[in-house]
Amino acid sequence: MSGKKSNIRMIQKIIDRTPTWLFLIVAMLVMVFCTLMTMSEMGWLPFDMPNWSDLLNMSDSSAPYEPAVQLSGEQTACVHFIDVGQGDSILIQTREQAVLIDAGERDQGPAVCDYLKAAGVQKLDLVIATHPHSDHIGGLADVLAQFSAEEILMPALPDDMVPTTSVFLRLLDAVETQNIPVTAAKPGLSYDLGSGVVLTVLAPVQDYKDLNNYSVVCRLDSGETSFLFTGDAEKAAEADLIAAGGDLRADVLKAGHHGSSTSSSDAFLNAVSPKIVAISCGQNNDYGHPHKEVLASLSQRGIAVYRTDLQGAVTLTTDGTDITVQTGKEAAQ
Ligand SMILES: [Zn+2]
Repeated sequence: MSGKKSNIRMIQKIIDRTPTWLFLIVAMLVMVFCTLMTMSEMGWLPFDMPNWSDLLNMSDSSAPYEPAVQLSGEQTACVHFIDVGQGDSILIQTREQAVLIDAGERDQGPAVCDYLKAAGVQKLDLVIATHPHSDHIGGLADVLAQFSAEEILMPALPDDMVPTTSVFLRLLDAVETQNIPVTAAKPGLSYDLGSGVVLTVLAPVQDYKDLNNYSVVCRLDSGETSFLFTGDAEKAAEADLIAAGGDLRADVLKAGHHGSSTSSSDAFLNAVSPKIVAISCGQNNDYGHPHKEVLASLSQRGIAVYRTDLQGAVTLTTDGTDITVQTGKEAAQ
């Protein structure tokens, strides 16, 4: 109590010693500033002033969800293949929800966060960690530190396959710190993303000896259009998906394993029969992704190919009937 009283006395002393003219100047400056702010909000000024909510940082967290992309007219969903160099990171946005599949290597975390912010994402309704390799989960801890996530989906691994890498432990730590419910990926799980857009988990269908084949594979359906996301699933997992007999046909296929020849078997391409293939890989990467056999196979089938290494972010928007594609830059040769 005595501390508070002495503070009040000190403030009183400062006020007593401050000349009246200083009060008048401050009051005038405040009045001019307020007038300018009001005029700016009314659109009466030829230049922009910051608005009140920016200044006071009063953005209302209970404000309705702002769609991360301006889906116009009948558009229902937008799928972004974010350019994270050698790795995967895919953002799915509907009018109501945002889903992130992977977030590239650890050093790509800040770039993925920036991309999500620029896209207007405020929270993630679902995060999918396709499989615990660093080029997929590396950036996720940064993302989870900056965006609240309702749920994280990952493959359930047998004990002897659970990695002890620092990047995986960092992800688990972030999940625990943020108290995010973890769901084990199982075929048949499905998520209603609103506006008739549904995300369905197709794999992993069984146990494997390597992590790539444990990749969470899922499809996104909106009206007549569909997208298939495959993580790094290789030919064994592709064969199991075909054997499982589920619907694999999709307009857009994310080439498994960055366009590596370990994936995209003829049988799988026949089953999916995509019009568009998106390949997420780094410029001049050490693995030679995408492999020329895969590119030849896609070209033979007349499939349109989009690559993050050549075109930057690749964004596909659907209205349930048609899909439009935008790229961050023109294809380099
Ligand atoms: Zn990978």
